[in-house]
Amino acid sequence: MREDKNRYGFSCGDRDEIRIEGLEVYARHGVFPEETSLGQKFFVNATLYTDCRRAGKSDDLSLSTDYGAVCQVIHRFLTDHTYRLLEAACENLARKLLLEFPGVQGLTLEIRKPSAPIPLPFASVSVTVTRGWRRAVVACGSNMGDKEQYIETAVHKIADDMNCRIVRRADRIVTKPYGGVEQDDFVNGALLIETLYEPEELLEFLNRLETEAGRERIVHWGPRTLDLDLIFYGDEIIRTGKLTVPHPDMCNRDFVLTPLAQIVPDWIHPLYGKSVTVLLEELQTRAKQPAKADER
Ligand code: ADP
Ligand code: MG
Repeated sequence: MREDKNRYGFSCGDRDEIRIEGLEVYARHGVFPEETSLGQKFFVNATLYTDCRRAGKSDDLSLSTDYGAVCQVIHRFLTDHTYRLLEAACENLARKLLLEFPGVQGLTLEIRKPSAPIPLPFASVSVTVTRGWRRAVVACGSNMGDKEQYIETAVHKIADDMNCRIVRRADRIVTKPYGGVEQDDFVNGALLIETLYEPEELLEFLNRLETEAGRERIVHWGPRTLDLDLIFYGDEIIRTGKLTVPHPDMCNRDFVLTPLAQIVPDWIHPLYGKSVTVLLEELQTRAKQPAKADER
């Protein structure tokens, strides 16, 4: 079970690594004026988390991540830009590499600055970050107007956003409304995506797509042109004022669990320790017992 869960984290399923050590770059990052005018030497270490199996079996460079090209991008990026902080250089360079090399699921990047202006004997200072594509599950629904089109447009906007890529898409299903409000049937679906957004950023992005679809929040659980819910974000458990992940009501919603069972049947709910398939079976069993179902 643990292995299954790990498949959805960027660094876990793909245990293979490509490492670059001590790449030297003369660049102009720093807070002091002489650092940005004269420049100094930086050294970069990068560990790229990627799946080397296909390249390993075929001996074909096109199926791997070309570490020479990665070195060139690092070198060019650090010489073309000037950051005050190593943190900013790391953050932006990590993002650049993740966008430029699709085979890199995640990376650990260290930038060392052995000539930093510190008036004491020292070997080096450095900043290290680990970043990657995170797997998330988004449920979508619509029950107003051209429902299919609202969902289709949202899927295209998600696919077109540079911070998201769609891994799998569930078939759309037609479902009865939920929550006691008299309204039209829903079209529901779900997406497994990889994203560079943090959870709150992803929710903001999804809310923006809802607004662009003319969504108005008038009645809770009422009719909507587009509803995009963040169901899972890796195996993270999040409870802030704005965001609850896993989605708090997912286990009671057949229209969420059915599409999920198609695209991520083995995804383990991080609070309940049960797979999506098991959660759906339990919901269906509860639904067959009307007296108990009312207690939900
Ligand atoms: P529902 O999706 O349950 O029918 P709404 O779409 O009206 O309800 O969302 C109600 C609120 O829930 C929104 O303001 C949204 O910001 C918040 N919210 C909290 N957690 C999540 C989540 N995981 N996914 C989507 N919205 C969430
Ligand atoms: Mg919602």
